[in-house]
Amino acid sequence: MERRVAALRARIREAEERFERRSGVVHVLPVSKMQRAQAIRRAHTLGLISFGENYLQEAEEKITALSDLHLEWHFIGRIQANKTRPIAALFDWVHTLDRAAVARRLNEQRPVDRPPLNVCMQINISGEASKGGCLPAEAANFARAIQEFPRLRLRGLMALPAPADDFDQQRLAFRRVHEIYQILNDRGTGMDTLSMGTSGDFEAAVAEGATMIRLGTAIFGSRPAP
Ligand SMILES: *Cc1c(COP(=O)(O)O)cnc(C)c1O
Repeated sequence: MERRVAALRARIREAEERFERRSGVVHVLPVSKMQRAQAIRRAHTLGLISFGENYLQEAEEKITALSDLHLEWHFIGRIQANKTRPIAALFDWVHTLDRAAVARRLNEQRPVDRPPLNVCMQINISGEASKGGCLPAEAANFARAIQEFPRLRLRGLMALPAPADDFDQQRLAFRRVHEIYQILNDRGTGMDTLSMGTSGDFEAAVAEGATMIRLGTAIFGSRPAP
């Protein structure tokens, strides 16, 4: 893991330079789904302090087992409306907010002794029926709705485009997310986070303005079987 993380940091620096991004503007969110708590402890010794999880039950176990480390937890999986309470209680960020009913529940269920929950709106940029996310055309209304909730803090947009092998194809999808981000911020939405790019396409995401790239296999290696 040490070698992978060092190589990754160099690649991110190179991409920032190549695409004229400000140095250090791209943050890594290690995605620890299917990884054991021990692997997260190792990542922590390398200076990684926030982690993305997709599956609630698995995440609950790891958050409990690692509570001594005071990590920052990001929920990046599909949200079932009847599972919002533990998400609101345990996580610092939610990247996959895509409907008002879930926003309302998270707002109501965010514990009073915790700061507002950081949220990103997931945008379904490739129009895939199988994926979560609101449609680009709904983004402005949804952003306004989220901003009405005092226990949620709208930080940005998240996208997981359909995989593409070709670098320019990858860039195209990320560029469309960035355009939506720009339009909303021009209207005063005040977001600071563009969560896009995974191990297979993060350089294209950096080229198109990502500020948070979500990396699983690039950090942890292949995921162990459940
Ligand atoms: C698994 C996952 C990632 C990380 O994918 P890798 O290919 O392992 O980097 C990023 N974002 C989401 C939403 C994921 O589910």
